[in-house]
Amino acid sequence: MRKKIAILGSTGSIGTQSLEVIDKLPDKFEIIAFSAGNNIQLLKKQMKKYSPKYVSVKNETDTIELQKEFPKIKILYGDEGLIELATLDEVDTLLVAVSGKIGLNPTIEAIKKKKNIALANKETLVMAGDIVMKLARENNVKILPVDSEHSAIFQCINGNKSVKNLIITASGGPFRTSTQNELANANLDKTLAHPRWNMGKKITVDSATLMNKGLEVIEAHHLFNIDYENIKIVIHPQSYVHSAVEFIDGSIIAQIGIPSMHIPIQYALTYPNRIEGIETESFDFIKAGKLEFYEPDYEKFPSLSLAFKAGKLGGTYPICMNAANEEAVFAFLENKIKYLDIYKITRSVFDDYKSISNPTLNQILIEDEKVRELTKKLIKKYEENQ
Ligand code: NDP
Ligand code: MG
Repeated sequence: MRKKIAILGSTGSIGTQSLEVIDKLPDKFEIIAFSAGNNIQLLKKQMKKYSPKYVSVKNETDTIELQKEFPKIKILYGDEGLIELATLDEVDTLLVAVSGKIGLNPTIEAIKKKKNIALANKETLVMAGDIVMKLARENNVKILPVDSEHSAIFQCINGNKSVKNLIITASGGPFRTSTQNELANANLDKTLAHPRWNMGKKITVDSATLMNKGLEVIEAHHLFNIDYENIKIVIHPQSYVHSAVEFIDGSIIAQIGIPSMHIPIQYALTYPNRIEGIETESFDFIKAGKLEFYEPDYEKFPSLSLAFKAGKLGGTYPICMNAANEEAVFAFLENKIKYLDIYKITRSVFDDYKSISNPTLNQILIEDEKVRELTKKLIKKYEENQ
């Protein structure tokens, strides 16, 4: 029996790589549905190639032309469309590869329908990790991490309960060796030139500020039910060691390989089996030579400390940090603010913020919107003063 898959965000970096993985395993997977945002040209190509039963797009206006061209495919749109794809009776596994908060509601609805979740969208756990993980436990649903560090940790733990520490590696991004002065003048091109990974723009900026690592700390806390004190960050510029787990007996198990998202994506889809699929270059210990490990520079990358702080404080603090950062990153991508303003703005919104304890899903979404509005106002001020 082929596993029936729906992909939210098939036109993105993770989405397209997931389709590459599935292309190599036609007898294992059947694509039932996928969704896109604005990239309708690529979506059309994918629709021709995979003939899914359902497709969802961001804007209603795109549905008319698509429905004309593909009369046999049911075309949906908007947030409701994503939820409909996520809850289709015929789907076994939902791959959540959209970026941002739009991943949250469809993931929750899919868990309620007992779909297994291959989760790339880290915002879902940063915003509502407690709710999502509890719901997954209650519905006996597996949340299979796609994020490479979390896939690595998941593979290392492999069901063992005797974990002492998680060691999450970080490449250090394009500014690992930059001076403060260079950071002050960092432009978009330099920020988007990640040395190891080719990803969507938002996560690439977060990888430069190390906010991505911060979000991953919160993601790991929820996924693996582990205290923040037991999550360590190590800078590893070669990105061969994808992360590691220290067990209570002192043994450390690491997961190693050439940087490639194909492997974590495939493992999330084929779990608990390992199968021969898309070919990736083998990691060669001899050719790799020296592997380096450093302590992160928390002064140069204050987003990382902020994420630990937000995570430890809990409540809606992580939601605030995530929303403020996301709005600031969008503003940076539109050349409205400078690189260092991303943290300044996020921090300023965070410092003025009053958190809610044990928020409901509705409160989370309201707080998220509130923070985004405040952040946009602050961004305007920064723009005016430039
Ligand atoms: P991309 O920006 O490349 O892709 C995002 C996808 O979401 C696209 O298909 C996009 O559609 C769609 N999308 C965005 N906004 C909307 C919207 N409002 N409505 C409907 N669809 C929308 O991101 P990535 O693939 O890089 O990242 C996806 C997620 O995975 C993120 O949460 C990221 O943090 C996480 N992740 C990514 C990794 C990577 O290597 N890229 C690694 C680990 C985690 P379109 O392009 O058509 O507009
Ligand atoms: Mg990652």
